[in-house]
Amino acid sequence: MNFQRIAQTVDVNAMQQSHVTMIGGAYGLIRSLVHCGLGAVTMVDFDRIDSSNPARQDFYSTDLGRYKTEATASDLQKINPEVEVECYTQDYCSLSRQQHDALFGHTDLFIFATDFFPAQARGNFEAVRLSIPAIWIGLYKGGRAGEIVFYVPGKTSACYRCICNGRYQAFHNGSGNTNVSSAGGTIHDLHLVDAIVGQIATGILTDGADNRMGKLISKLGNRNLLQVKMDPDYRLGDKDIFGQYLGNHPANFSFTTIALPMEREESCPDCRK
Ligand SMILES: [Zn+2]
Repeated sequence: MNFQRIAQTVDVNAMQQSHVTMIGGAYGLIRSLVHCGLGAVTMVDFDRIDSSNPARQDFYSTDLGRYKTEATASDLQKINPEVEVECYTQDYCSLSRQQHDALFGHTDLFIFATDFFPAQARGNFEAVRLSIPAIWIGLYKGGRAGEIVFYVPGKTSACYRCICNGRYQAFHNGSGNTNVSSAGGTIHDLHLVDAIVGQIATGILTDGADNRMGKLISKLGNRNLLQVKMDPDYRLGDKDIFGQYLGNHPANFSFTTIALPMEREESCPDCRK
């Protein structure tokens, strides 16, 4: 593969030496990372492709019934025959700690692209314990807005649990819906959020390189909660969170991102020292 035309923006050498583990499905995102030179991918997902998937994810109608991981693996190898790919079709939450560390202990970045709260929560616990960077991707109801949380040991202060403390409480009390379904979100919504996550993932994997991507994580600093607006009329409850930060100028329309500074929760059980 010839990476000449992205070499000024992406430290392709660092990408080629990197390994990403994705739990759940941001299959468009993982393809984009391989386009940028990513050397090794592990995908964990027990889902098979069903007839509703090609309408909004990067799957083909000719692949119905195949495991999403395995169908994607063939595509990744078409993009770059040198990429190393491993697929697991177990439930991430069912793995023992020993199995977990044996499979993923060497990874450079976790991506949690699942709307199943227990998998997101376990992911935070393990990423913090192993001191491995991680990104969580979520779509809000109807795909009207998206959420990205990232954690980089030594760079961000708050972990996923610090930031999404309310979601943990709702889960433990059994109050509130912690598994927000992404139904209603189109492939445009998914790709818009994935494109932003792709930049952050590339930033994490090539951190320190003297180019735009290599500087991204230092520039973001502790702004490790990002929200992305897709629906011009999006409100969180009755709050216009985008208007609150970006103002009410007519130029503030949609397809915009806010990056919010986050602090550690002193009492957070996951990242407590
Ligand atoms: Zn924490």
